[in-house]
Amino acid sequence: MTAAYIALGANLGDPRQQLLAAVDALAQLPGTRLLRRSHLYRTPPWGVLEQPPFINAAALLDTTLAPHELLDALLAIEQLAGRVRAERNGPRTLDLDLLHMDGVQLDDERLTLPHPRIAERAFVLLPLAELAPDLVLPGQGRVAQLLAAADTQGCERLPEARVAE
Ligand code: ADP
Ligand code: MG
Repeated sequence: MTAAYIALGANLGDPRQQLLAAVDALAQLPGTRLLRRSHLYRTPPWGVLEQPPFINAAALLDTTLAPHELLDALLAIEQLAGRVRAERNGPRTLDLDLLHMDGVQLDDERLTLPHPRIAERAFVLLPLAELAPDLVLPGQGRVAQLLAAADTQGCERLPEARVAE
């Protein structure tokens, strides 16, 4: 089993509902256990600014899936949520990114691990730091330190969501 860290985001439709449904779908992947998920966060749009705020979260899985199998599973869950791929960094019903898998570093045409843009994204670091503050991302650094250096302005933890244990 390998620990895998997933970032979830949505800003169209019913983002909270889509995130919670996606967490359920992650828990049901073959050879996979959901260990924890973070709170939900409301965060300002990034890149393309003229779009609704995002809801973001992170999940920690234990899985026997290989990295590309897990990526395919994430893309399939996005498709089931009705995601249409349009503008880069634009609005989406569901975005699932594979952030890191323990002991894995790779960079090919489909998959880069660790995800190369974690350090610059408060909306990824805030929920990830709940799950794994001491995780060291090869090439980027320790999650808690990356978060301390990130701009979290406008990011808000949503109080009504509970952390699944
Ligand atoms: P983004 O999440 O950057 O806004 P997309 O969700 O449209 O963009 O992803 C584009 C592609 O990025 C995916 O089809 C996938 O092949 C590739 N990709 C590369 N590395 C990763 C990763 N670590 N996690 C998720 N997708 C990745
Ligand atoms: Mg993505």
